[in-house]
Amino acid sequence: MIKKKIILGFPENIVKKPIVYKLVKDFELEFNILRAEITPDIEGKMLIDIKGSKERIEQCLDFLKSEGVIISEASKDLIFYKDLCVNCGLCASVCIGKAFTLNSSSYEIELDKDKCILCGLCQDACPVKAIKLNI
Ligand code: SF4
Ligand code: SF4
Repeated sequence: MIKKKIILGFPENIVKKPIVYKLVKDFELEFNILRAEITPDIEGKMLIDIKGSKERIEQCLDFLKSEGVIISEASKDLIFYKDLCVNCGLCASVCIGKAFTLNSSSYEIELDKDKCILCGLCQDACPVKAIKLNI
């Protein structure tokens, strides 16, 4: 049993097609949707955690590709521009993974990327655009 975090991209021609439910139905995989959005060019993007046997996951990814879904590994693609940060603490207050924290001695913001689930809440909250996610 393995766990993978991946980004699924749905181009305009398949964005309304019911595909994701097949992950459970046909491939018996467990998955959590961590973030989903439709970009201005009507492309859908979804960040998911997927769990199951390696073989099943590979079969599933092959199926998704054959349906036109663009797949990319999500791993650690949060970028923190520390030089822009004004240590306001807003990212820490919204961070559900507790990846951003405000150091109570230095009053500086700190990031532990291993705790990040790439939900994107900090990016939306940051007033100076010091955080960027690739989804
Ligand atoms: S993306 Fe989500 S989990 Fe990751 S640091 Fe930002 S708020 Fe926290
Ligand atoms: S919200 Fe932005 S400016 Fe505020 S502490 Fe977080 S990264 Fe820094």
